[in-house]
Amino acid sequence: MSAVLTARELARHYSVSRGLLQPSAQVRALNGVSFELEAGKTLAVVGESGCGKSTLARALTLIEEPSSGSLQIAGQEVAGASKAQRKQLRRDVQMVFQNPYASLNPRQKIGDQLAEPLLINTALSRSERRERVQAMMQQVGLRPEHYQRYPHMFSGGQRQRIALARAMMLQPKVLVADEPTSALDVSIQAQVLNLFMDLQEEFNTGYVFISHNLSVVRHVADDVLVMYLGRAVEIGASDLIYQRPLHPYTQALLSATPTIHPDPSKPKIKLSGELPNPLAPPSGCAFHQRCPHANERCRQEAPSLRLLDGRQVACHHVEQIHA
Ligand code: SF4
Repeated sequence: MSAVLTARELARHYSVSRGLLQPSAQVRALNGVSFELEAGKTLAVVGESGCGKSTLARALTLIEEPSSGSLQIAGQEVAGASKAQRKQLRRDVQMVFQNPYASLNPRQKIGDQLAEPLLINTALSRSERRERVQAMMQQVGLRPEHYQRYPHMFSGGQRQRIALARAMMLQPKVLVADEPTSALDVSIQAQVLNLFMDLQEEFNTGYVFISHNLSVVRHVADDVLVMYLGRAVEIGASDLIYQRPLHPYTQALLSATPTIHPDPSKPKIKLSGELPNPLAPPSGCAFHQRCPHANERCRQEAPSLRLLDGRQVACHHVEQIHA
């Protein structure tokens, strides 16, 4: 299988002004993240708010230029792509946002909004566009009469169906979904997730699924990338990570995830403190101020990702913790 998305040491840094006569500070919102995504597979990116997930989403969807590193979409390197190639890349990668209402034009009928990507990117006639839109509406569970309605006439779940339909109109190679169900009622989250998976099967699209909630992505992810302060701290197959998380941060995130049948043999790990200020990141391992296993080495030396037990993990003491 070939990768539809390849990120190598992808980084996005911002300069932040600290006032008159002060040198500006650098925030490393994304600090060298690497992964591969294959067609028809889902990579879940998880971590607390502020860990760099949304910055990663913006870099993958070409909304923001990476500061360094390499990004390939369907084998095409983004850096240095011509104008025509960029246009094609923007078609190949689509995005679904957390709040579907904000991403829809309140004054435009749903049918016209769904037809817009076809109007801009294809030579289809008006009737062909309408046909394609109606077919997609049916696929996402909307009725033909919805074509003439406006966004405010739909529920939150229906609006997210519309946003997903619009993102899939051009049958992209990659779909980046940033917290796509977190604004929805719990009762309809599962329906919307199932719809995501049905469309993935139909179009063989690679998904990057961004969420702060590990239980949401559990049933959709093939691989999981856990991020902390702009870096990957654990990445590997979803089954492996859910069954036996190795990094203390992944363990804490999973421990905080509610389950129907909690395992009494696994003690709850409470994550204390908050994500450090990215303007003044801690020395050594960025997680050391919150980690129950931290020692002097952790405070001095940043751990690199290394292969262990079938996944990559960035921690000096994994072996001792799990001995
Ligand atoms: Fe904790 Fe040290 Fe591992 Fe960082 S390197 S996660 S501080 S044990």
